Amino acid sequence: MSTSADSAGRTPSIARTAAELSAAIARALETAAPAQGAATLGLVPTMGALHSGHESLVSTARGQNDVLVVSVFVNELQFNDAQDFARYPRTLEADVAILARAGADIVFAPEAAEVYPDGRPLIKIDSGFLGSKFEGASRPGHFDGMLAVVAKLLHFAMPPATLGVPVSYRAYFGQKDAQQLVLINRMVADLNYPVEVRSVPIIRSAEGLALSSRNQFLTKEQATAALVIHRALSLVKERADRHEPLYLEDAAGLFEMEPLVELDYFELVDPRTLQELAFNCQDTPFTGEGLLLVAAKVGEVRLIDNMTLGY
Ligand code: AMP
Repeated sequence: MSTSADSAGRTPSIARTAAELSAAIARALETAAPAQGAATLGLVPTMGALHSGHESLVSTARGQNDVLVVSVFVNELQFNDAQDFARYPRTLEADVAILARAGADIVFAPEAAEVYPDGRPLIKIDSGFLGSKFEGASRPGHFDGMLAVVAKLLHFAMPPATLGVPVSYRAYFGQKDAQQLVLINRMVADLNYPVEVRSVPIIRSAEGLALSSRNQFLTKEQATAALVIHRALSLVKERADRHEPLYLEDAAGLFEMEPLVELDYFELVDPRTLQELAFNCQDTPFTGEGLLLVAAKVGEVRLIDNMTLGY
């Protein structure tokens, strides 16, 4: 297995088309696959504008796979706001430099026409009720568009059947986008994708703000105000760790003290089904497992974050 030490610093090969990607994967696997046993291939889908959160995903995948592909594609289908799509940062050159450092073997950076040669797909993946709540309620169509591209990327990076040794195929996603992760796990299970989904924890700034490519649009004042998200999540997490009642409304009340931050939702759910859990009553100490989801708008920037409770 190649390690991050072997491949860190080498310029990754850049594939612009699906054919180039398949050829690059086949070549890289032939070189890196062990003589015996299964080879491993990791895929990390991103929209670029890479930060330390992405780097953590890439380094984790690097350490676990013989060959590592990172895709960089700003997927118009998952933007329900044309302005948000237009201004989404595109920084491929800087991204490739980061990916070289993090040890990616191949960067897949296709044009939209390569991914959607016939324009918007006519046949759609419906994210169902899991995709209609929380982020889906505020961003109609977002999750269908996200699943459309992930379904395609998983195909594009599929290991060749002709290698001679079996290839274990893994795809990596961040816990930062918790609802996305639940949906991708369901899609992979429901549509029998031959891939194992792996997740990595949220990377935050030293002050607690979850890293996001959109944070660069926050003023200093807004970024400071946005720390209320982490304060509210942590307050509930501390109560959960002590098996106390959670008093979600009281934690959500912290947002009222930050006029720059407009709370969208602050909700405790089952980590697998996203069904709301009620642990608010005075006499109900928290037990079991929960996922606390939050979304808020700071100026024009929508921020999401979450914390797992009871783990
Ligand atoms: P994006 O480029 O925003 O589509 O994100 C690409 C991948 O990076 C997704 O799986 C995200 O969940 C993950 N990611 C984004 N931000 C973070 C973060 N702060 N910590 C961990 N993973 C992240």
